[in-house]
Amino acid sequence: MQTILTGIRTNEEPTIGNFLGSYLPMIRLSHEHGANSNINMFIPDLHSFTTPIDHSKFYDQTIKGVKYYIAAGLDTDNPNIHIYRQSRVPAHCELAWILDCFTPFGEASRMTQFKEKSEEHKDSVTVGLFNYPVLMAADILLYDAKYVPLGEDQFQHLELARNIAIRMNNKFKEDLFTLPASEAEQVKFMHLEKALRIRSLTEPTKKMSKSSKNEKSKISLSDDPKAAAKKIMSATTDSEGVIRFDMINQPGISNLMLIEALFTNRELQDVISDYAGETRYGELKSKVADTVSHFLADFQEKVAGITDEQVEEVLAKGEAYANEVSNQKLQQVQKVLGLRK
Ligand code: AMP
Repeated sequence: MQTILTGIRTNEEPTIGNFLGSYLPMIRLSHEHGANSNINMFIPDLHSFTTPIDHSKFYDQTIKGVKYYIAAGLDTDNPNIHIYRQSRVPAHCELAWILDCFTPFGEASRMTQFKEKSEEHKDSVTVGLFNYPVLMAADILLYDAKYVPLGEDQFQHLELARNIAIRMNNKFKEDLFTLPASEAEQVKFMHLEKALRIRSLTEPTKKMSKSSKNEKSKISLSDDPKAAAKKIMSATTDSEGVIRFDMINQPGISNLMLIEALFTNRELQDVISDYAGETRYGELKSKVADTVSHFLADFQEKVAGITDEQVEEVLAKGEAYANEVSNQKLQQVQKVLGLRK
C-alpha cells in the first residue's frame, strides 16, 4: 500500500498559507486515496525548536495541531489514516543520525531556508536549524512515502531527501528506501499546475510565514474572523488600477484571487474571469475578506468541538502504528550498515 505523508509544525499558529498549501491538499488526497493508501499526517514537534520558541505553551500547541488536522477534515475513523507526534517515534532521530553520515556537508549547506532563517535569527543559529532537512528526510524515508504534499518552500528539502535515498540505495541495496516522487510528479498528484505559495499580505513578493513578527502580514487559523477580514481589506496591492492575475507585477491582488479560488474550490481561471477589466480593488478585497472570515468562523467552531480525550485516543492509535512501521525500516537500515545481523 502506498504512503502519502505530510507534517505541519505547530510551534507558531499555522496560517491560511499552511492551510491552503498543506492541510487542504492532504485532506483532498485522503478523500481520494484513503481507501487504499496510508495517509500519515504527523506533528513534527522535534522540528519546532530549530529556532527559539515559548516552551511553556508548546505541549498545548501540539494538541491543538492535532485538532486542526481533524477539523480540516481528516477522517479519524479510517484505519488507514495515522496521526502521530514525531517525538513519540524514536526511529525518526535514530535514522536522522544515520542519514547525517551519508549527507555531504556541502549539499546540506545549500538549503536556502537555512540561509534565510539564519539571517533572520542571527544570534541563535543552531546545529538543529542546519540539520533539520536531514531529520525531514528521515520522517519521509522511514515510511517509504512516495507522495509528500508540500508548499513550494519545502521542495528543496524534498530534493535532498531524494538525493539521500538515491545515494543509500546505490551504496547498500536498490530497494532500501522508496524514492519520493519528484516535484513535478508531486504537484501533478496534488492536481496543481505548480507548487503553491501564498504570499504575505503586506509584502506580497514574500511568502506568508507563520513566524513573521508582523501580524498584518499573515492570517492565523486562530485569528478573530473580523480582524482577519480587516487584514485582507488593508492588504498591500499596487497602483496599476486594473485587476489582473500577474504574480510578478501585481502579486498582492493576484495573491487575493488565488486565496479566493482555493477557499471556494473554484478554478483560478474562473475567479480571474469574474474580475477581468475590473478596476475596483475594494470589491475583490471584500469578497476575499468575506470568504476568509466565514472559513475561520466555521473552522474554529469545529476545533472547539474536538476534545483532548479524542486527540489522545487518535494519537495512541497513530503512534502505535508509526512505531511498528518505522522500527521495521530502521532495522533494515541497521542490517545493511552492519549494525545488526
Ligand atoms: P511549516 O510552516 O514550515 O511547518 O510548513 C508546513 C507546510 O505548509 C509545508 O508543506 C509548507 O510548504 C506549507 N506552507 C507554509 N507556508 C506556506 C505558504 N505561504 N504557502 C503555501 N504553503 C505553505
